[in-house]
Amino acid sequence: MSTALLEALRGAVGDTQVLCDGDLSRYELDWRRRWRGRALAVVRPASAGEVAAVVRACAAHGASIVPQGGNTGLVGGGVPDDSGRQVLLSLQRLNRVRAIDAANATLTADAGCVLQAVQQAAADAGFLFPLSLAAEGSCTLGGNLATNAGGTQVLRFGNARELCLGLEVVTAHGEIWNGLSGLRKDNTGYDLRDLMIGSEGTLGIITAATMKLFALPVGRVTAFAACAGLPQCVQLLQLARDRLGAALTGFEVMESFALELVARHYPQLPRPLPDAPWTVLMETGDADDDAAARQRFEALMQAALERDIVTDVVVAESLAQARALWHVRESIPLAQAEDGPNIKHDIALPVSAIADFVATTDAALKTAFPGARVVNFGHLGDGNLHYNLQGPAGVAPQAFLEQHEHKANAIVYDAVVARGGSISAEHGIGALKRDELVLRKDPVALTMMRAIKQALDPKGTLNPGRVVQP
Ligand code: FAD
Ligand code: ZN
Repeated sequence: MSTALLEALRGAVGDTQVLCDGDLSRYELDWRRRWRGRALAVVRPASAGEVAAVVRACAAHGASIVPQGGNTGLVGGGVPDDSGRQVLLSLQRLNRVRAIDAANATLTADAGCVLQAVQQAAADAGFLFPLSLAAEGSCTLGGNLATNAGGTQVLRFGNARELCLGLEVVTAHGEIWNGLSGLRKDNTGYDLRDLMIGSEGTLGIITAATMKLFALPVGRVTAFAACAGLPQCVQLLQLARDRLGAALTGFEVMESFALELVARHYPQLPRPLPDAPWTVLMETGDADDDAAARQRFEALMQAALERDIVTDVVVAESLAQARALWHVRESIPLAQAEDGPNIKHDIALPVSAIADFVATTDAALKTAFPGARVVNFGHLGDGNLHYNLQGPAGVAPQAFLEQHEHKANAIVYDAVVARGGSISAEHGIGALKRDELVLRKDPVALTMMRAIKQALDPKGTLNPGRVVQP
C-alpha cells in the first residue's frame, strides 16, 4: 500500500515535497514535547488543488491525514500517531496573502500564512487584524481557525470564529469548497463555515480564509495593576467595563507564582510592579485621542485605588513600554515550559463564578497534592483561565504529570462543570481531552457531533482519533 501511495503523493506535489527520511521531529513532535508520532510521510503541497490531490490519493489508499499548520497546538491534535501509517499534511507552503479589500474591510489569505504576517499585511494596508496570541510568530491562520483560537483581544473583537467571514476548504472526498465570500450576512442554509471552524482538522482542510479587518486603534493605554485577590480583579473588570465600555480591549490576570516563573527563567525582563498576589494587564483602544483616553483611564484607576480594588498601578509611557508589559504576560507559558511538563487546564467559567472556583479548587488541589503549585493566569475578561498544576519542588515534572494527571483533572473539571463551565476554552480537544469530552459533554450534543463526522468523513480520512470517535 505505502509504495503506491507514496508514488501517488509524489505525483500530487512533486518528489521534493514528500519527506520520508531524516529528522522530521519539527513535524512529528508537538510544541509541548508531549506527543511524538511517526508519519508515513510529510507532504508539503503549495496550493488548494495540490491539497485536494493529496486527500484523494490518501482516501483511495485508505490512509489517514493529519493536517498541520505551525505545530503550536497544545492538545496533541496536529502530530501523527505512532503507527507510521498516517500522512502529515503541512500547510506551511500555502503562505500568500491573496487580497485586501479596503472598502469591504476584509483580507483573504492562504491557511499557511503565519499569524504575524497576516497582522503585518493588515497594518501595511492601514488596518488592524486583532487576533493576537503568544504563538503568533509561528502559528498559522488555518491552525487558528481549526482550533477557533482566542488570545488576548477576544474581549473586544471575539475569537477566530467571530473574525472569519469565509473559508476555502478541501473536503474528505478531495473536493474544493469555495466559501470565500466576504459577506457579513448570508442566511442560505446550514453554516458550513462555522462547522469547519474549531473542528481541528477532523471535518475538512482549510486552505484559505477571508477575515474581518478593523480601524487601527487610537488612544491606546496599557497598564499593570496590582490586586490583593482575585475577587478584586473581578471588581476591577466590572468597573472598567462600566467606565470604558467598548474601549476596553484586554484584561489579563496573572497570579504571583506565574510571574515568579517568568522572573526565574527570564531575569532580563522588567518587573513593572512589586510582587502582589494578583496582577492585571489592562489595555484600552478606541476612537479617542491619546490624551483623552489616558485621562479616562487615569480617572478609572483613581476610583479603583480609592475603593481599595487595586493597590498599585503602572501605565506604559511609550509603545516600547506597552510591548514590554505584554512581553511579560506572554512569557508565562514559555517560562512554564522551561520548568518542565505540567498538568494543563484551559477552562472557561462565568466571570461571576471564577473567584469561588479558584478558592475552592486551589484548596482541594493543595490537599490532594501537598507541595504542588497552581500556575494561574489567563484572560479574565473572557472568563478563561489557564489553570495549570506543577508538581512540588524536587519531584520530577514528567513523573508528577504521569502519576497525577487523571486525579488532578477530575478535581478541576468536576469543579468547572459544577459551575456551568467548559473544559476547553480556547485550545480545543485534540487527543488530550477526547476521552474527557465523552464524560463531560451533553450526550445529545455528542451524538450530533458523531453524526456530523460520519456524514462528512465516512472513511475517517481526516485526523481520526481526534475530537470525537464516530
Ligand atoms: P497546529 O498546531 O499545526 O494545529 C492545531 C490543530 O488544527 C490540529 O488539530 C491540526 O490538525 C489542525 N489544523 C491546523 N491547520 C489546519 C488547517 N489548515 N485545516 C484544518 N485543520 C488544521 N491558543 C489560543 O487560543 N489562545 C492563546 O492565547 C494561545 N496561546 C498560545 C501560546 C503559546 C506559547 C502556544 C505554543 C500556543 C498557544 N495557543 C493559544 C494554542 C493555539 O491553538 C495555537 O497557537 C494556534 O491556534 C494553532 O495554530 P497552528 O498553526 O500552530 O496549528
Ligand atoms: Zn490563552
